[in-house]
Amino acid sequence: MSASTPLKLLRVVLPVPLRRAFDYLSADPLPAVGCRVSVQFGPRTMTALVIEHPSESEVPANKLKAIKGVIDTAPILAKPELKLLAWATQYYLYAPGEVYFQALPTLLRKGEAAAYRSTSYWHLLDASAQVSSQAVKQQQALTVLRQGPLTTGELAVRGISSAILQALAKKGLVEKKEQVPTPSDWRHANAPLTNDTNKPQLTTEQALAVSLIKAAQGFSPFLLEGITGSGKTEVYLQIMEPILQAGMQVLVLVPEIGLTPQTIARFQQRFTLPVKTLHSAMNERERLDAWLSCKDGSTAIMIGTRSALLTPFARLGLIIIDEEHDSSFKQQDGFRYHARDLALLRAHQLGLPIVLGSATPSFESLHNAASGRYQLLTLKQRPGSATIAQHLLLDSKGVQLHAGLSPQLIALVGQELAQGNQVMLFLNRRGYAPALLCHSCGWIADCERCDAHYTWHRQPSHLHCHHCDHQRPLPAHCPSCNSSELIGTGLGTEQVEQALAGLFPQYGIIRIDRDNTRRKGSFELHLEGIRNGKYQILIGTQMLAKGHHFPDVTLVAVLDADGALFASDFRATERFAQLYIQVAGRAGRASKPGRVVLQTHQPEHALLQDLTNQGYQHFAQQALQERQLANLPPFSFQALFRAQASDAKAVQQFLQQLVEHLQPNLPLSVLCLGPLSAQMERKAGQYRYQLLLQAPNRRELAAACRLALAIIDTQVAARKVRWSLDIDPVETW
Ligand code: ADP
Ligand code: ZN
Ligand code: ZN
Repeated sequence: MSASTPLKLLRVVLPVPLRRAFDYLSADPLPAVGCRVSVQFGPRTMTALVIEHPSESEVPANKLKAIKGVIDTAPILAKPELKLLAWATQYYLYAPGEVYFQALPTLLRKGEAAAYRSTSYWHLLDASAQVSSQAVKQQQALTVLRQGPLTTGELAVRGISSAILQALAKKGLVEKKEQVPTPSDWRHANAPLTNDTNKPQLTTEQALAVSLIKAAQGFSPFLLEGITGSGKTEVYLQIMEPILQAGMQVLVLVPEIGLTPQTIARFQQRFTLPVKTLHSAMNERERLDAWLSCKDGSTAIMIGTRSALLTPFARLGLIIIDEEHDSSFKQQDGFRYHARDLALLRAHQLGLPIVLGSATPSFESLHNAASGRYQLLTLKQRPGSATIAQHLLLDSKGVQLHAGLSPQLIALVGQELAQGNQVMLFLNRRGYAPALLCHSCGWIADCERCDAHYTWHRQPSHLHCHHCDHQRPLPAHCPSCNSSELIGTGLGTEQVEQALAGLFPQYGIIRIDRDNTRRKGSFELHLEGIRNGKYQILIGTQMLAKGHHFPDVTLVAVLDADGALFASDFRATERFAQLYIQVAGRAGRASKPGRVVLQTHQPEHALLQDLTNQGYQHFAQQALQERQLANLPPFSFQALFRAQASDAKAVQQFLQQLVEHLQPNLPLSVLCLGPLSAQMERKAGQYRYQLLLQAPNRRELAAACRLALAIIDTQVAARKVRWSLDIDPVETW
């Protein structure tokens, strides 16, 4: 650039882990706020995002560098989105670059143009194409494609595999073609908005919820608490209608897309408008295209996981968060944001209604509803003839257990199977046994890198550390005494499967956990087998608990409740209760009444009594009172400093020093606990410690955290450890 053109200041963020922005110079006209530029940063050329046109800089003029180039001619993030990210940077006290870049698809982070590019889409060749009514999946594929071409990835999350598409292609009904997507405006389409044919008549409770949400003006948060199967999704569908009619977009956040093909299919079936998804299983190009289609308004309904919340929208009109209690909405590494909390902020900024739905709302949300910040809507009944399950506590004290199953439970399972029903057994521990033990000398196979036992797997046979993922072959002999009598202790899903296969050989049995759903499409295949009656006995971890409708399941059994009752994390009981209710919700969804059995050594435990006799609401109220007495969240606010290193001393010293400098400067109202060792002190060779801060309000918590960060910036010991700050942590170590 010639010396005659005066250069002006530009403030940018860079994807580096530093808690600051950077100033550069650029010629007039300056790239707008929200545009990417490329800059020299140290030895590297990096993509940066312009966040401000400052009038002065702290950096001396002769030290300022000019940018190397402009990438975007128009902002890729608009003002409201930039404001949200600026707020998030302040709130989570995190490196701004990492926060802002989290809102960009990978390709944009790498400097790729913010434009559509040719992608492979599946097209319908004949709009009136039909297949035989037996080919259910093929029919589904045709229905979905009638609304427009989709990529293989988008079809996969709707439960349609490539095999099905190939079969249709062979019949000459569909075709895969390269195409550049073009922005589309669905607002002026003449077609009706919904496929009215199978819209049910709302129950009174549903109708009330729908009309209250529809009447909302401006920012209005709702908590929709409805038991499993009470028709929450139907409420979502109906409140979306007027929003879409007005040409506004809807964002639906769900915990895990892979587990919700049925939900996506329902949105797609109801509306004649473009439905898109955004989740980690999509490739980088698919993600960018979906992102662009929200930004330019082409997408009417976006269904996505956590990160979809940071997507720009041209005309956002409503946010829905399904299963709002789910901890997957909180990012657990890097920029540790909570998508639900940021969603509320976004709705507030834009003056939108926001609906948080769950059968088991988080305590935070219940507290917000109780204090009037959210409007509470409840659905207590299931529509139609579906009945509510009956709960049973089975005492396993002193009872001879067969692979963790009491004789009483085995009898119940037998009864249901004999009547042609399905049963579901739930155990949140995969593998055959959680430990391998030498019967002669007591040696236990421990992971070398963690304070943990190896889990013994038999299909295929090996030892697996579930904490660091380390795997090794099963030893033939005890390394300590050379005995060959190695036995498993404790219970895993493989063992339950084996035992039930022995007890009920005439029935189909399927295990669903992470081990046997790794292969692409296998989860869907298992679900299909459950639905079409190939399997009568279902065994699973929490994967099986979420969101699936199995109308023929009449008995759900939770095999081990005892672990959660005595965990050290104060949230463990909340999580157990949520999981239990979710699991229980699998029973008796159709016309068949269901039973839920909880097997425990502590049947008299107050929590279990409350949960099974009074339900989640009552349990939550009691538990919230306890939290209030103990001054725990949501009645106080927490932040957690975590630190780890291969040298335990270095970690302890770092946190100890931090406490010594921090504590004397904290007001009495702010609690500083630690350093505490993590529950599992050593994981993957790293020693882990933490420091907890707790304050009566967010302002004081933020002040304490800022102080701590300022101290850490001066600590030499900080360079020898990996540390992080987690605001509003949902888990301790
Ligand atoms: P939730 O999301 O609360 O688990 P769903 O919306 O999935 O509940 O509803 C459960 C089942 O009941 C679904 O099969 C749904 O189609 C059906 N359903 C929902 N509302 C009604 C209604 N008002 N009348 C009849 N069936 C309904
Ligand atoms: Zn031994
Ligand atoms: Zn390990």
